[in-house]
Amino acid sequence: MRYISTRGTAPILDFQQVTLAGLARDGGLYLPESWPQLSPDQIAALRGASYVDTAVAVMMPFIGATMTPAELRALCVQAYGRFAHAGVTPLVQLDHRHWLLELFHGPTLAFKDVALQLLGLLFERFLTGTERQLTVVGATSGDTGSAAIDALAGRMGVDVFMLHPAGRVSDVQRRQMTTVLAPNIHNIAIDGSFDDAQALVKAMFNDRAFSGRFALSAVNSINWARLMAQVVYYFYAAVRLGAPERPVAFSVPTGNFGDVFAGYVAAKMGLPVAKLIVATNVNDILHRALSTGTYAQGTVVATPSPSMDIQVSSNFERLLFDLGGRDGTANAAQMHGFEATRAMQLTDRQRDGARALFASDRVDLNDMALAMRWAHECAGETIDPHTAIGLSAARRAGLGADVPVVTLATAHPAKFRDAVERATGARPVLPARVGDLFDREERFATLPATFAAVTDYVAARATPAP
Ligand SMILES: *Cc1c(COP(=O)(O)O)cnc(C)c1O
Repeated sequence: MRYISTRGTAPILDFQQVTLAGLARDGGLYLPESWPQLSPDQIAALRGASYVDTAVAVMMPFIGATMTPAELRALCVQAYGRFAHAGVTPLVQLDHRHWLLELFHGPTLAFKDVALQLLGLLFERFLTGTERQLTVVGATSGDTGSAAIDALAGRMGVDVFMLHPAGRVSDVQRRQMTTVLAPNIHNIAIDGSFDDAQALVKAMFNDRAFSGRFALSAVNSINWARLMAQVVYYFYAAVRLGAPERPVAFSVPTGNFGDVFAGYVAAKMGLPVAKLIVATNVNDILHRALSTGTYAQGTVVATPSPSMDIQVSSNFERLLFDLGGRDGTANAAQMHGFEATRAMQLTDRQRDGARALFASDRVDLNDMALAMRWAHECAGETIDPHTAIGLSAARRAGLGADVPVVTLATAHPAKFRDAVERATGARPVLPARVGDLFDREERFATLPATFAAVTDYVAARATPAP
């Protein structure tokens, strides 16, 4: 499989190169040159398959000659062996039609472990035996950082610089990052919002001299391999609920449009998806874009679902490129327009294409709390604020009565204990696997949200490329 940039002029890469790359050199994002197809028979054959076997079947077409199926399988066994549930991503029934897909059984209690545990192993495999040294820089609203740090701590050939917005991540999220004291891990609290942190990371990539000197790489959902790993659980869940004969809808709590874009990829590969519900909190740029056709950046408001407090959704560019007919030149012009004015118009083709598969909703604080209470009182399930936003949108989506609706449960409720307790009166208990998080020493730097401050910090600590 070959990978092309959404802006049309960056070099074409293979799977190994695209895994180690971050943003494309032309400022775009990488996508496979074409969507591999799984036939209805191949999808039906996944019924009863283990998570690892499903993962190999779904991901192998994206990997091409870079690895054999047996090599990929060995990495998946290792990555998903660290999950605390034998089903890796189990389905839990809420009522006659609503289901939760629990994606939070990994080491850091959020769905990002599903992709990052594998990505860490891919990095190590591709770097071992080479002279290469990668500098991973990332911005996190909380969960990417902890998942990436867990996956990369102590791995050879990688230095990690993780930027989080100071004071805007939960105490569990912060401690999961800052108590990892491995010498290759560097946590930076930025005086600003997540969007400020993400803009700094983008600026580092776009500074050719800097990004070349330190071989910058990304673990945010701009990294293709992450999205690829997330496609797997859409297949895994859907076949358990009757696919390919019966279409299934998914409700996805969304921030950077990565997780829900993986659902789009599953649909493109042939999985019958009835609807993808894009569920946002009050930071609703995606809901506004999909319902009005205008993608316009607003001001970020801090909420109890911080991993979705985002007003620029990087992966939306991938959707617009694909829906717009994969015209890199037109896409680059559209994105440059957005970057200059912080607003842009979807074309009719993009709007019609999106409407065919996506629905969207904006869930405020009150409706989020109501969904948490409904799950707790009527279904006996404690859910986190992000999941509650997905569930609220799922319950009012008005889909046909025969369509099962799967809400992606993206974080363990204990990761957001205060918000869960406020809504339900019950305080979730941290699972034993996170151990003595609150007794461990923390280490992080606090820096202003300026390019000079952050690049000076990184340059003083990263290993230059040979
Ligand atoms: C990252 C995250 C999201 C949003 O996922 P995107 O891929 O950025 O849309 C939702 N919920 C939780 C708990 C997350 O960590």
